[in-house]
Amino acid sequence: MPEPTTPDTRPPALLKAGSAVELAPGIRRLLAPNAGLMTGPGTNTYLLGKKEIVVLDPGPAIDTHIRAIQRAAGAPIRWVLVTHTHADHSPAATLLARETGATLVGQPPPAGPNQDQTFSPQQVLKDQEYLKTSELTLQAIHTPGHASNHLCYLHQELRWLFTGDHLMSGSTVVINPPDGNMKHYLESLERLKEFNLGKILPGHGEVITDPDQTIDWTISHRHERETKIIGAIREQHNPTTMELLATVYDDVDSRLLPMAERSLLAHLIKLGEDGRARETNKHWTLVGK
Ligand SMILES: [Zn+2]
Repeated sequence: MPEPTTPDTRPPALLKAGSAVELAPGIRRLLAPNAGLMTGPGTNTYLLGKKEIVVLDPGPAIDTHIRAIQRAAGAPIRWVLVTHTHADHSPAATLLARETGATLVGQPPPAGPNQDQTFSPQQVLKDQEYLKTSELTLQAIHTPGHASNHLCYLHQELRWLFTGDHLMSGSTVVINPPDGNMKHYLESLERLKEFNLGKILPGHGEVITDPDQTIDWTISHRHERETKIIGAIREQHNPTTMELLATVYDDVDSRLLPMAERSLLAHLIKLGEDGRARETNKHWTLVGK
């Protein structure tokens, strides 16, 4: 496809697959063509640096996207990082590293479905460890909850945080047990407020310019959902998980109910761990008052 030869004076369509958008000098975003119910506009791939490139979350193994990343890079790709190993974030990593000789960085996948078992990092970053290039430094922050091996990456100079699926723009994330864990998710969110964040660059959707308010809103949204669950258990007298789903997620698009059921289960497991609810023969009761 030839490049347009006349200047386009329309405002840029920011989230459009296939062309890189510069968010700051040396920070570019390239949207993967995998829009959908669970991925929103698609997966955001980030390209960091100018002289040597870090690719963050190259997305699913879509050949045209892997080509677009290489075309947009404009300099050698030295590192391929992933926030976590769900199918919409990491499968392109191994392919891209094989073609470019880049080092794979992240945490290995846990066992279980919807985990990219092809991802085998050469450099494993633990909590608070750094990746330094000649142009920038990224600090890994372990943020289990959405996925047990989830890392956010903090750009040290800008204080911008790449959050993968830990936080996204415009919707809440799915917590899918057993790898997803609601208690860990809330703890990981609280902890992010210690890092003096400038902006959040999520794995899906637009840049978030009010990080701490967004984190607070997300935590309170989860607490409200938990309160609603406790109320529904009390009112419905020993409901099953499916009986709770219809009342607790009455505000959710019906197409999303199968995934909402996973988040509901994550809330119920947390209430169990907190000693506030108990499951007996698939029916839930409150413990104490
Ligand atoms: Zn994910």
